[in-house]
Amino acid sequence: MNAVYLDHAATTPVREEVIEAMLPYFKDKFGNASSVYSFGREARKALDQARQTVAEVLNADFNEIVFTGGGSEADNLAIKGAAWEYRNKGRHLITSSIEHHAVLHPMQQLEREGFEVTYLPVDDQGLISVEELANAIREDTILVSIMHANNEIGVIEPIAQIGAITKERGVLFHTDAVQTVGVMDIDVKKLNVDLLSMSAHKFYGPKGVGALYVRKGVRLIPLIHGGSHESRRRAGTENVAGIVGLAKALELADAERSVVVPRIQRLRDRLIDGLLQIPHTRLNGSRTERLPNNVSVSIEFIEGESLLLNLDLKGIAASSGSACTSGSLDPSHVLMALGLTHEVAHGSLRLSLGRENTDAEIDYVLETLPPIVERLREMSPLFSS
Ligand SMILES: *Cc1c(COP(=O)(O)O)cnc(C)c1O
Repeated sequence: MNAVYLDHAATTPVREEVIEAMLPYFKDKFGNASSVYSFGREARKALDQARQTVAEVLNADFNEIVFTGGGSEADNLAIKGAAWEYRNKGRHLITSSIEHHAVLHPMQQLEREGFEVTYLPVDDQGLISVEELANAIREDTILVSIMHANNEIGVIEPIAQIGAITKERGVLFHTDAVQTVGVMDIDVKKLNVDLLSMSAHKFYGPKGVGALYVRKGVRLIPLIHGGSHESRRRAGTENVAGIVGLAKALELADAERSVVVPRIQRLRDRLIDGLLQIPHTRLNGSRTERLPNNVSVSIEFIEGESLLLNLDLKGIAASSGSACTSGSLDPSHVLMALGLTHEVAHGSLRLSLGRENTDAEIDYVLETLPPIVERLREMSPLFSS
């Protein structure tokens, strides 16, 4: 068996068609989109086309798409950009305790700058309470940021419902949709969002390029000042090839979703059902409100890190939580927010599927993993069968 890649929530390979679409913009079409001569016009045309494609997939307008240097930058621009712009209206922000660090850390920075942040808890299924969120909105609340789906446990939050409330209360609403764009049907109007982040490398595009949807009328103070690129919202010579790649990857994902996603979801269900056969194993997060490609389980009496190393020796690439938390001794903030104990959270495993995974690979994982768990448990002082 070749290597089995099951860490698509961390990143995905760039599709061949995407590389093909990008190549001309490294070579003969290398122009700067701001130049007036034909090289520049060619680059400008490619950027315009990419922006149009992204806008159409999201049901947004051309001018509502801002290209960024990735998902983290899109999150930072949405949160800091809106907070700084509207700080005279109020200084209260609301988010959840399970956000990606690209949302939590800007929030913490804003707290150091004098803003106040409410971190909403989630229930044991990983879900935000819409009612609790509504109750947390104050006179001085200017922004709510809740992720569309969580990168560790795959739980899908009730974004459209939350958006209906923020709309009614006149509060801006941002969602980090980095895990859902390319996987779910995204319509910014149906989701009732003002700001939405995405990242190309999570849907088979290149790394280091992302986009932020900014609803018409929403103003942001830029993070990067310089030229008038991206309608003065993000200065810097555009990453033309990367942006072309993002749009191509999104277009392909959108066109193929109805065929690809049900197949991935079937593989996911096989994996979940198989893993739950292992004694003392539980699913992290809701089974139903769940990304079609996410498996996250806690396997008691083992160390997730040891399991990962053993799986790696068998050619299986997985994660024990978020890529950012691996390597640190603290269990992930997301698993702790679910109410897991330290011990249980340490035995967590995330398998995230993608379009190239096969039934044979799932068979291989389900044959390989249980004996490893058994062996690790035999070595554990805490375990007695
Ligand atoms: C990967 C990820 C990000 C960061 O995106 P980058 O493009 O890697 O900066 C932000 N939020 C979520 C939910 C993610 O999964």
